[in-house]
Amino acid sequence: MNIDFLIIGQGISGSFLSYFLLENGATVLVLDQESGNRASHIASGMINPVTGRIVATTWMIRELLQFSDQAYGQLGSLLNENFISEKNILTIPPTLQMQEALEKRCREKNTFIRSISENEASMLQKKFHYHFDPKKIQPSFLINVQALLISWKQYLEKKQCYQKDSFDFNALTLKKNGIEYKNIYARKIIFCNGIETFNYAPWKNLPYTITKGEALIVEIPDLENHYIYKSGSLSIAPWKQHLWWIGSSFEHQFKDALPSKNFRLSKEMELNQLLKIPFKVVDHFSSLRPGCIERKPFIGIHPQSPSLAILNGMGIKGCSLAPFFAKQLADHLVHGKSIEPMADVERFKKVLRRL
Ligand SMILES: Cc1cc2nc3c(=O)[nH]c(=O)nc-3n(C[C@H](O)[C@H](O)[C@H](O)COP(=O)(O)OP(=O)(O)OC[C@H]3O[C@@H](n4cnc5c(N)ncnc54)[C@H](O)[C@@H]3O)c2cc1C
Repeated sequence: MNIDFLIIGQGISGSFLSYFLLENGATVLVLDQESGNRASHIASGMINPVTGRIVATTWMIRELLQFSDQAYGQLGSLLNENFISEKNILTIPPTLQMQEALEKRCREKNTFIRSISENEASMLQKKFHYHFDPKKIQPSFLINVQALLISWKQYLEKKQCYQKDSFDFNALTLKKNGIEYKNIYARKIIFCNGIETFNYAPWKNLPYTITKGEALIVEIPDLENHYIYKSGSLSIAPWKQHLWWIGSSFEHQFKDALPSKNFRLSKEMELNQLLKIPFKVVDHFSSLRPGCIERKPFIGIHPQSPSLAILNGMGIKGCSLAPFFAKQLADHLVHGKSIEPMADVERFKKVLRRL
């Protein structure tokens, strides 16, 4: 089989990359093993424009929000589904310091922090215990990542652009103008397979991070699902049907990738303290996020081996970063357009030279 691009991994990164490459008229094949670590499958799908204790505006967020709205909208139109909805975040500060940080941002112009309405205040008072004044983060978005991954896989299968396969790096041969993998010949191979990519010799020196994140799936029958709720590091986001996604954790050191008893107990305790209404835990899962120590992704062509490319290192922001940088990488691969220098993997050319 001869194709332009072989893509490894069909998480949010591989999905959007294959979408934009196909849009550009390229031929692609996506391989996914459909098991193991798959961060996208358990992401809540939030796009939150602010971050941290000082409620800072996140990197490139205005461009990313605008682009996400378009990209999820276009992919949704193609697949006849809706993957993106505006769900503003009602944030309940857990401390006086957090309340002050939110108030300061609210007074500043050009931020995403707003006062809540009387209706929102009265709804929150009925459902939550709290001491400090809530605010609203607007606009924020919720992506239905799981539905997108399933529908896009079906689309690729129909176009004969998808294979269930566990990629074996030892079976890859670099050729003068491309790669050979089993019976596949491609101009380039692009690694979108999350944390697994960092095990391969050409990418192992990248300054990557791996963080564990867990989530509970909970029934909360009496909660208004037009919003996402947040208090400190606890997020409560609408999941499927009447269920809610509760997360998350951000651990750099962990014994294994499995759901832990500690996480479940601590989130149950936080929910008990926060909610006035009953809830019931129905599921619990965990995954490892592929990230970069700079919190900027790894995008582009390997500086030493031009048939290898990467779209990876999305960290906690895959839902907003992956579509935007998938488009940049697709335009770079097909039309030679430039990649944002702060995300271009070329910035690590010195470490990528070391074998
Ligand atoms: C608990 C949790 C909550 C999160 N919530 C959010 C959120 O609300 N908003 C947000 O923006 N981000 C969130 N994230 C981060 C987000 O999930 C990641 O940034 C994003 O999913 C990374 O996507 P990816 O496609 O690069 O990697 P992955 O999703 O890990 O995809 C890698 C794919 O490669 C495949 N693969 C791996 N190895 C092989 C192989 N050898 N052969 C073939 N296929 C292979 C896997 O099957 C998988 O499908 C969350 C993460 C976690 C863990």
